[in-house]
Amino acid sequence: MRTKSLLNFTLNDLEEEMVFLHEPKYRAEQIFVSVHGKNAKRIEDIKGIPFALIKMLEASYCINSVRNLKVTDSLNFNTKKYLFETEDKQRIESVLISEKGRNTVCISTQAGCNVGCEFCATGKMGFNKNLEAGEIVSQVYEVKRLSGEEPTNIVYMGMGEPFLNYDNMLKSLKILTNEKGIAIPSRRITVSTVGFKDKIKRFADDILNPENKSVKNVKLALSLHTTDNGLREKLIPSSVKNRLPDIYSELAYFYKTTGNKVTYEYIYFEGLNDTDSDIKRLTRLSKMIPSNINIIPFHPIGFELNEPLNVFKNKKDIDKLHSDKNLSGFIKKLKAEKVVVNLRNSSGVDIDAACGQLAVLNK
Ligand code: SF4
Repeated sequence: MRTKSLLNFTLNDLEEEMVFLHEPKYRAEQIFVSVHGKNAKRIEDIKGIPFALIKMLEASYCINSVRNLKVTDSLNFNTKKYLFETEDKQRIESVLISEKGRNTVCISTQAGCNVGCEFCATGKMGFNKNLEAGEIVSQVYEVKRLSGEEPTNIVYMGMGEPFLNYDNMLKSLKILTNEKGIAIPSRRITVSTVGFKDKIKRFADDILNPENKSVKNVKLALSLHTTDNGLREKLIPSSVKNRLPDIYSELAYFYKTTGNKVTYEYIYFEGLNDTDSDIKRLTRLSKMIPSNINIIPFHPIGFELNEPLNVFKNKKDIDKLHSDKNLSGFIKKLKAEKVVVNLRNSSGVDIDAACGQLAVLNK
């Protein structure tokens, strides 16, 4: 019989489980504090509960924390990449970026990804599985334990598409923001998606549900990368069925109902998405709802690039993009239109930990 993992339970779920086990409800909080607040690795490490309950839990429950296999330090940035393994031997990566007094942990929601974005190494490795909630949150606990740093911000921008593992993603948010656990404020958490019809609206409704009040300030980032539907379909295959007008109207709903700002992630591909028409469309979009645009330099991903990115086929071309004055010119033009725009730095690019570079082969 497969055992249930205590790391997968929100506090509410644990309370229901205690009722099911004929245990007092307050035991749920004791277990939650040990497992999510103190990173207990074994059931016998749970503090304050009777020996008989420990034995009962050991018979049918486990703690499915991810296991660390390797930590890689960046030489040029204050960034570390973690290679973790789940109990069923799936490998995933997480990243810790320490800058400006913030420790941002970038976490994965799937082992691999079947969306297949052309610019993304994870998309090139295929899909292995959806991570359970415990496997998502334990990346944060393990990064904290291994680095000795207190996580201040969480971004769901590692391997996988969070909205294709929706229930576990939402559950993990409830766990990470619970004040009895690691208690990350929800305004410091961003979930990033390439955009799926109905899911952004559902997310807005879910985070506004009074039962989920600890997550109500979670921010949303759309991996936009181009405002041209035709080009976007080539870069992000799922956008064929999830066209931009539908996604924009869901984003407007998200802002109108939650009041939470939206970020657009925009990888800069010189000559492909930096024309004057792109600037016009981005300007219009940025005025639609309060938002900001993060411009991200394109990073080498170590996989063959197909059309339309095959023009950047070798590393020399890509390095040229990083230093090219056209990138700063593009940003200047957007700023001149009063668009709120930031250049995201390439933290961890030297250890393949920057945006779009995460990929592992399960061997
Ligand atoms: S960018 Fe996100 S959705 Fe696209 S392949 Fe990579 S992980 Fe999947």
